Amino acid sequence: MSSLRSIHPRLWVAGQDGCCEGSPECAVVHACKTPCHQRAIGYAKSLPPEHPNYLARADAHDLWLNLIDPPVPLFQLESFQQFFAFAAPRYDAGQALRIHCNQGESRSASLALLLLSRHLQVLSQHSYAEALAGYVALDPASRPGRGLAQFLEENWHLLACCCARCLGADVSHRPGVRER
Ligand SMILES: [Zn+2]
Ligand SMILES: [Zn+2]
Repeated sequence: MSSLRSIHPRLWVAGQDGCCEGSPECAVVHACKTPCHQRAIGYAKSLPPEHPNYLARADAHDLWLNLIDPPVPLFQLESFQQFFAFAAPRYDAGQALRIHCNQGESRSASLALLLLSRHLQVLSQHSYAEALAGYVALDPASRPGRGLAQFLEENWHLLACCCARCLGADVSHRPGVRER
């Protein structure tokens, strides 16, 4: 049975069987180190952290993230910023978005949750727990890993969307800056 499922208009989450090449119609986020990030960069075990694509590589329609799903919160905020910077403007431009990881339950679903909450604002932005409760209703197959859930909970206030539209919306609310 395919793990591919529709979470929201134009937003899809999947496991490894949903891996495909991005296209002008559908951008793809490959949210797994093995095999996708390794394959996209061309390495076997690990990259040195100083490698320019250590966290991510993006091209026109694909983003490869060096994400594993450890039981402890070993994540970097920049991975999530790279995700927002790639996914948000493409989704806004009308492209569909497919996010996949290995099982299609933790990494991919958590990124979909972040997009729905912090960029599209169709889930609560107040806390991870509230956003998760809303997300599970949309995607009952999701199951965030312990380490990732802990990271998202502890860093929720830092996980705002960094796309131009969301940053612009912030700027327009500062005194002395004209509304667009
Ligand atoms: Zn992939
Ligand atoms: Zn945004």
